[in-house]
Amino acid sequence: MMFRQDCHSRRWVLALAVCFAAPSASAGEPLWVEAERLSPFVYRADFHLDERESLLGELRQLQRDLSESLALEASDEPIELYLFRDEKSYREYLSARFGDLPARRALYIKTTTGPGMVYAFRGPQFAIDLRHESTHALVHGALTEIPLWLDEGLAEYFEMPAEQRQAGHPHLPGILARLRAGELPRLETLERLDDTTGLSRDDYAAAWAWVHFLHHGPPGAHGELVSYLREVQQPSVQPVPLSTRLRRLLPQLERTFAEHLARHAPR
Ligand SMILES: [Zn+2]
Repeated sequence: MMFRQDCHSRRWVLALAVCFAAPSASAGEPLWVEAERLSPFVYRADFHLDERESLLGELRQLQRDLSESLALEASDEPIELYLFRDEKSYREYLSARFGDLPARRALYIKTTTGPGMVYAFRGPQFAIDLRHESTHALVHGALTEIPLWLDEGLAEYFEMPAEQRQAGHPHLPGILARLRAGELPRLETLERLDDTTGLSRDDYAAAWAWVHFLHHGPPGAHGELVSYLREVQQPSVQPVPLSTRLRRLLPQLERTFAEHLARHAPR
């Protein structure tokens, strides 16, 4: 099972960044070995990355996937990617630019005045981290508001390569075990989580499971997600919660949810 530390305090990190307003551009600025703009991404790396083109192409495909899947209009707002050769250079840069930040493996930071920024370092989880944080950046570029659980559930879902999104996420075995033990939270429980409560490791997995259900579950479930996000984008509308929508559509929601996940159990 994957334990994502990167975003457990992401909202807190956002608030911190806002408090400090624009970060210092000169402090600890490394010599960028590579820099490239491929809209919406502005790429900087302190090392030579052989797979840069394929990586940027994959992130642009991620933007198209999100737009198509969630019926979101892609934003032109730039997303700055800051990539580092190792954890040490990543931490030194963040410390010089933002001061003390909690130790996270990757970060998405958005200030009040600047573009969304994604920070990550090369390591075993590099591609997953980049897709995860870039999903946050792309979603926040298109939406001004999104519940914490759904924000993280979408990032967990889209962090996998496209061919492994439906089947292949490491969360699945743990989710199935929790289902059998009757320990998986209802959607309403996730909906009550906010910046003050944050998300636990198990909440991340549960959020992923519900997003998986919304994408690959029974007919109508995905339409409710799209409809909900459309309402979220309208400032004058109080969106009908997804749990309410799904219960109207599927009276035996928990049972349908459990059966859906069981069908995706590894064979
Ligand atoms: Zn996250």
